[in-house]
Amino acid sequence: MKIVIYPGTFDPITNGHLDIIYRALTLFDKVIIGILLNTNKKPLFTTEERLEMIEKSIEGIKNIEVKTFDGLLVNFADEMKASAIIRGLRQVSDFEYEFQMALMNRKLNENISTVFLMPNEKYTYLNSSLIKELARFKADVSDFVPEIVNRKLKEKFL
Ligand code: ADP
Repeated sequence: MKIVIYPGTFDPITNGHLDIIYRALTLFDKVIIGILLNTNKKPLFTTEERLEMIEKSIEGIKNIEVKTFDGLLVNFADEMKASAIIRGLRQVSDFEYEFQMALMNRKLNENISTVFLMPNEKYTYLNSSLIKELARFKADVSDFVPEIVNRKLKEKFL
């Protein structure tokens, strides 16, 4: 059974993240979405809210699970018996940071590989920060996020 971890902040989950998840499901038997707790970022949504939005967005999809984790990603992957980590690559600007993390994670645990997946072109300019910025100014983000996220964003920025 090939298990992969898809780690991130998911503040909030977008259609870009979902695109990566669908691709990962064609390559692995099981995808575990890992919400990182000890992040330097100051999330807009609480962990519970992010968890709920992800769960609603993936409702009905098989071979997928959502968990939160603290500490080192490779340790979490090890605990979950995962053989790989998925990261999304949108453009060259993602590369430098992702490359550094992938090599460091491999140094920490040789048995866990990082796999990069490219989303559909229409999501390459999409990120959670931009979505929050648009939503703050009441722009329509319904093309970019699942229905539940659209609703939650509207509630946040009433
Ligand atoms: P992190 O704080 O770890 O970057 P994010 O939730 O922002 O967490 O992103 C998690 C992963 O999803 C990262 O690998 C990121 O590159 C990827 N990702 C984010 N947005 C998109 C998108 N629109 N298309 C493809 N991958 C994406």
